[in-house]
Amino acid sequence: MPDDSGLLIVMSGPSGVGKSTVIGRLAERHPLEFSVSVTTREPRPGEVDGTHYRFIDESTYAAMAEAGDLLEWARYGGHGYGTPAAPVWEAVAAGRDVLLDIENDGAMQVKGRFPAAVTIFLLPPGDDELRARLEGRGDTTGVDLERRLAVVAEQVAHARANYDWLVVNDDLERAVDEILRILTVSRRIDA
Ligand code: ADP
Ligand code: 5GP
Repeated sequence: MPDDSGLLIVMSGPSGVGKSTVIGRLAERHPLEFSVSVTTREPRPGEVDGTHYRFIDESTYAAMAEAGDLLEWARYGGHGYGTPAAPVWEAVAAGRDVLLDIENDGAMQVKGRFPAAVTIFLLPPGDDELRARLEGRGDTTGVDLERRLAVVAEQVAHARANYDWLVVNDDLERAVDEILRILTVSRRIDA
């Protein structure tokens, strides 16, 4: 019998590598449902509560984790992040492909709980290009930018050992083509 459940796709990568850009283009070429994470960080200019994140305070975050409402959770850059579990399971059961844009710790929690999840790590073409993209985005500066760049080597080393797939985001269209091929081979057709 073909398995008609959706794919649970986990996308990670260093800040500024192009995750939002790649995911946006991917969604234009393949129907995707996005998981809206909760976070305790402040919204950036242009971010909308309930669309980009649900912005919550620390006590609500702790209560959700305690209640088992989060599929995974992790702290990053001093802030809490987490994936509400129920919408993910509903979508996958209904046959829709769901994408989580989450960091390494959370990705490994998802893979541990749900081994069929497809974990993809986006790599920058090089360190200089990563810095340039992050600076070019303009919303991360100073200490925050240096803190994000400082963890990249460690993140990448971990990803090489633990993710199902590594994709270099050199040319946007090429990277999206590669991800579409990964989704095709990941779809279970136990016919
Ligand atoms: P992330 O979501 O990983 O933090 P963004 O999607 O915000 O990264 O991208 C960071 C910057 O890099 C943006 O200015 C974006 O336009 C640029 N960018 C993304 N992908 C590419 C690419 N393939 N080539 C060149 N620039 C890119
Ligand atoms: P940003 O603050 O730049 O939006 O995100 C910082 C990091 O947190 C990124 O690596 C992003 O992928 C990750 N992130 C966003 N939402 C979640 C989540 O729900 N869980 C986990 N574990 N990481 C998340």
